[in-house]
Amino acid sequence: MSASSVWHPFTQHGLGEPIPLVTRAEGAVLHTRDGRRIVDAISSWWVTTHGHGHPRIVAAIRDQAERLDQIIFAGWTHEPAEAVAQGLRDIMPQELTRVFFSDSGSTSVEVALKMALGYWREHDPARHRILVLEHGYHGDTIGAMSVGARGVFNRAYEPLLFDVGTIPFPAADREQITFDALEQACAAGAAAFIVEPLVLGAGGMHFYSPPTLREMRAICARHGVLFIADEVMTGWGRTGTLLACEQAGVVPDILCLSKGLTGGAIPLAVTMATEPIFQAHYGPDRARMFFHSSSYTANPIACAAARANLAIWAEEPVAERIASLGTRQQLRLDAIASHPRVRGARRMGTIAALEIAAEEGYLSSIAPRLLAHFRNRDLLLRPLGNTVYVMPPYCIEDADLDRIYAAIAEACEAA
Ligand SMILES: *Cc1c(COP(=O)(O)O)cnc(C)c1O
Repeated sequence: MSASSVWHPFTQHGLGEPIPLVTRAEGAVLHTRDGRRIVDAISSWWVTTHGHGHPRIVAAIRDQAERLDQIIFAGWTHEPAEAVAQGLRDIMPQELTRVFFSDSGSTSVEVALKMALGYWREHDPARHRILVLEHGYHGDTIGAMSVGARGVFNRAYEPLLFDVGTIPFPAADREQITFDALEQACAAGAAAFIVEPLVLGAGGMHFYSPPTLREMRAICARHGVLFIADEVMTGWGRTGTLLACEQAGVVPDILCLSKGLTGGAIPLAVTMATEPIFQAHYGPDRARMFFHSSSYTANPIACAAARANLAIWAEEPVAERIASLGTRQQLRLDAIASHPRVRGARRMGTIAALEIAAEEGYLSSIAPRLLAHFRNRDLLLRPLGNTVYVMPPYCIEDADLDRIYAAIAEACEAA
């Protein structure tokens, strides 16, 4: 038993695994109290886009903290929030005219689901069923778990989760099964379909193609089923473009963004919606307002960080960095893809993934051994079962990428 009282997320304290104490970070590198230099190969759980401690984001946070730290957002506003909303309007699809702030990816999903139900309250209250994609992940709050894959993560809470319609994952060459199931479920009447566009992250880094995303969106549009794009992970360049939806020419009715929204420096999320969804909540009737808030909605310091992130996207060569990281990942992935123990080597944008041949599943015995293997090599790399993925900050240096891939090759040898 350690002396700490901290109860960590997704951590089995009973295993007694070491919990490194991190004191400092810059770029793609973390420093621990015991003097180790750790390469952050997963962007501190997919949030850090431009690297830790980007000077513009740090300065924005410092300046804003001195000016205005926090203000109620129900009926009040402030410059950083207005600037972020306008900045998002400038670069996100034109149809998404409204920006609702919250604090985390999970909350942005809860907000999206409530917006969808609020819309149908006005148009057809019988439509409240939510459709989801098999293997999906949308967060750990009750609503977000309800629309995500069921498994060991949420078995204990199953009685609290609401019923959803699950659409089979569009595996390559089996997309028609997905389309048919979605067509049927939409025809039967549904409020919304929520998807992670192009990459299902926590469910195992499953990829599907832009044309498949476009077709799923088209089916929903034909039936008036709202299309919710959860780009909490895929947004901000992760899949090679600002949004994954962009690659499919898809505009969702509702868009969830978080993680890279502040460059990964501080929690913030937005749910963007089209005008009809806003209008369904608009009018003189107080009972129709959107009933959602949290204490720190649109916290000014977090918004200032997001404003700095938007400035970085506007003024720095972010697209070039993303393209370069994609190429640099591909070179290294190609070098190990043909290893006899490697299965399904794949890459989309800055995300590379592969399976190391072993039993499948998150709790498969190889998973803790892989975790220890990478930790012992001073790498922050957290496989999903036997799926190893690399999703570093865009600024990672070649030598650090080499270390990551050398450790993966070694893990294949040892498997
Ligand atoms: C991480 C994630 C979430 C949850 O975001 P939190 O900020 O951890 O609550 C939701 N959806 C997707 C696709 C994610 O990857």
